[in-house]
Amino acid sequence: MRKPFMAANWKMNKTSRETEEFINTFIPLVRDISDVDILIAPTFISLETASRLLKSSNVLLGAQNVYHEESGAYTGEISPDMLIAAGCSHVIIGHSERREYFSETDEVVNRKIKLARSKGLEVILCIGESLEERESNRTFDVLSGQLSGSLADLSLDGITIAYEPIWAIGTGKTATDEQANETHAFIREWLGKHRENADRVRIQYGGSVKPENIEGLMSQPEIDGALVGGASLKPDSFAKIAAGASGK
Ligand code: PEP
Repeated sequence: MRKPFMAANWKMNKTSRETEEFINTFIPLVRDISDVDILIAPTFISLETASRLLKSSNVLLGAQNVYHEESGAYTGEISPDMLIAAGCSHVIIGHSERREYFSETDEVVNRKIKLARSKGLEVILCIGESLEERESNRTFDVLSGQLSGSLADLSLDGITIAYEPIWAIGTGKTATDEQANETHAFIREWLGKHRENADRVRIQYGGSVKPENIEGLMSQPEIDGALVGGASLKPDSFAKIAAGASGK
């Protein structure tokens, strides 16, 4: 049995004050959901505020990115130790926006995951194809390449995969439930061929998830949760999404 895992990726949204307002409203809404792991990933600058407010709640804290060196002359970067000291248990690595706007390659993603895991952070690894890659029937090749590059020399311990078709992120277009499930099944099959314990890995779907479509997605056997952007910015919306995974 894989426990559903719902994660909020706030991207570059919310000040520390807005983070505080969100959390104070959100915690009571999800207090009784014990069969779903729920995580919030605010910006770096709000992590300590969030950590203080989430203490003794059932909501986990994650960061949206991390650097692949431990310390030193890397202006503007944040290390795994800093994230842990700020209260994070998780970090999102390899989001398509990092890959596109900050030129992160699978090799960089792999270095980040290795260092994060060596420090004990759990990782949400994002992979996904573009519209052009899907339309030219290259989805499975692209995903295989991202998995083998990002996971090189790594076990699956402490890793969640977020399958996020780039064409569905922030666009309002969602993969159909069946399309998403088929791709998740492919990812699990790839993991099973190349690593141990693939059946234990949680695979989240990401791409315009909202309260209206979460139940259909979660009814699919290979979908273990969601990584949610836009619809995680309002407490009632993200609480409904988390509740939509309860009972799976
Ligand atoms: C994301 O960026 O991880 C994401 C899935 O965004 P949205 O839910 O807004 O499509």
